Amino acid sequence: MMLDRGFIQVYTGNGKGKTTAAIGLSIRAAGAGLRVFFAQFLKTAEYNEHNILRQIENIEVKTYGRGCLIRGKPEEIDYRLASAGFNEVKRIIESAQYDLVVLDEINVVVYYGLIETELVLSLIRNKPENVELVLTGRYAPKEFIDNADLVTEFKEVKHYFHQGILAREGIEK
Ligand code: ATP
Ligand code: MG
Repeated sequence: MMLDRGFIQVYTGNGKGKTTAAIGLSIRAAGAGLRVFFAQFLKTAEYNEHNILRQIENIEVKTYGRGCLIRGKPEEIDYRLASAGFNEVKRIIESAQYDLVVLDEINVVVYYGLIETELVLSLIRNKPENVELVLTGRYAPKEFIDNADLVTEFKEVKHYFHQGILAREGIEK
C-alpha cells in the first residue's frame, strides 16, 4: 500500500485535539498498511501514546525533547534535541521509507525559535511526492499554512485547564 500523492496537513489552534488527531490518523493509516513515522518534538516517551504506538506494526515513534519546555524558556539542550530530531526526520522524509510522517509540536518548535522556519519550510516544500506530512502544534507559522494543502484550526470554546485541571494521564498525556 502506498499513497498516490501525499499532502501537507497542519493541525493548529488553542483547542484540544491536535496531537490526538494525529495519533488517530496514524492508527488509521497503519490499518491501511501505510508505514508511519511519528516524531514527537519537545516530548519524552512518558506520553502514554508512545506505549501503544510503538506496539503497532507499521508505526515507528520517536521523541526528541525533555517534556518540560512547553511553558519554560528554551535552554541549550532544547536546541540540541530539536536539531537532532529535525535532522533525523529530514532523513526519514527524504528516504521516502514512510508514507505518513507526523511532526508533532513542530509548530511550537519553530515558534520558540529552536529550529528556523526556513529549514522546516524547505523540507516540506521538497518532500517526496508520495509522502504525507502532518505538522501539529499551536502557533503554526504563516509559511506552513501557506504551503499546506489542509489546515485545521482547533478552536478552544471551553477548556478545564482554566479551572486549574492540568494534563491528566491517559487524557492529555
Ligand atoms: P491533545 O494532545 O490532547 O490532542 P493538543 O495537542 O491539541 O491536545 P497542545 O497544544 O499540544 O494540545 O498542549 C496541550 C497541553 O497544554 C495540555 O497539557 C493542556 O493541559 C495544556 N493547556 C493549557 N492551556 C490549554 C488550552 N487552552 N487548551 C488546551 N490545552 C491547554
Ligand atoms: Mg499537542
